[in-house]
Amino acid sequence: MGADGKAKPPSSPGRQGLATRAVHVAREGAPLGPRGERAGTAPLVQTANYVYPDADVAASAAGGEAFLYTRQANPTTDGFARAVAELEGAEAGLCFASGMAAVATTLFATAAGGEVLASEGIYGGTTELLSQLGPRFGLRARAAPAWDTAAFAAAVGPDTKVLLVETLSNPLLRVPDLRALGELARARGLTLIVDSTFTSPCLVRPLELGAHVVLHSASKYLSGHGDVVGGIAAGAEAALGPLRSMRTMLGGNMDPFAAWLALRGLRTLPLRMKRQCESAVLLAAVLETLPGVVRVHHPSLPGHPDHGRARAQLDAPGAMITIQLADGAAARRFYDRIRVFVRAASLGEVVSLVTHPATFSHKGLTAEERARLGIDDGLLRLSVGIEDVADLEADLRQALGA
Ligand code: PLP
Repeated sequence: MGADGKAKPPSSPGRQGLATRAVHVAREGAPLGPRGERAGTAPLVQTANYVYPDADVAASAAGGEAFLYTRQANPTTDGFARAVAELEGAEAGLCFASGMAAVATTLFATAAGGEVLASEGIYGGTTELLSQLGPRFGLRARAAPAWDTAAFAAAVGPDTKVLLVETLSNPLLRVPDLRALGELARARGLTLIVDSTFTSPCLVRPLELGAHVVLHSASKYLSGHGDVVGGIAAGAEAALGPLRSMRTMLGGNMDPFAAWLALRGLRTLPLRMKRQCESAVLLAAVLETLPGVVRVHHPSLPGHPDHGRARAQLDAPGAMITIQLADGAAARRFYDRIRVFVRAASLGEVVSLVTHPATFSHKGLTAEERARLGIDDGLLRLSVGIEDVADLEADLRQALGA
């Protein structure tokens, strides 16, 4: 990111910028008219099955050469997957019914029979999957802090098959060194899976840094409007093959209408991310000066433990901010008073959101586990949206009584 915390222009030589590609890639697959005219947007193919002109084509569908059934493949969901793959610099992409379907299918397809070494501070749903469902189906897991590369490398065991990290940890926004983890994975013959939900391809392209598969909850920044639940995996075709067949068997493809909405949202992703990150940089700096705020966690701040790494690795520092207030009572007061930020789960929407991790996303952990992860009762997680930043600042001030 730039010295001022603002987004740097995409740097890949010879390629159009991400904002240009995002608006045009979403038109792919638009139907052709009699004179070569095309619809301005990709079609919504809201169908369960496909109709064949003859026995040869039907047989080719059964052989995987033509569309057979939307649980397996659909032009609209495939279009969304291709568009995200293009922005990630991936050979291929695969849509899922949710981010969790993408995470679960990817982990079971790549690590069953072995062990996942997951970072600490990953999404609570993924932690539950690894601790509750995984062991019942041959998937073991351990955790170590991925932002400490040496500690993470030392935690690799004889049965480790997969390293699983998130680009920004939740909720303290620690930043793992993806290039170093890519080298670790290659040196030890492991698969590096990176969940980039908090960053999107606008801030980092993990495959360029050595990841084998990049995952997203498309319910967040990619679609951006809080009206879609979906997920994506992107990577080399060889890496996605096992995921594709498992997705078909588990029935976890995305619904075409959800994919169509997500494709529409994707066109403004770079614009939204730029605005959201710029507002977050401003608000993080203001929050540090406000009474009642004990600590602000945002990678743009010089006091953030991974500030230097974030500057080197991310094109912008992200639009999530976590604040530490005095205690649970102070956090509750703030939560009840806030007006422009809405009290809701999730993140990455155009609307600013607030959550209280201790009683919400991390409620399932014991008090000791929360304390070890630094999740205090006074912690609040803010997802900065696209509202006027002056209104967001005024809202934070009044909620803090400042
Ligand atoms: N990965 C991360 C980092 C998340 O934050 C979430 C949801 O919050 C998920 C995956 C799961 O995504 P979904 O809610 O779309 O299933």
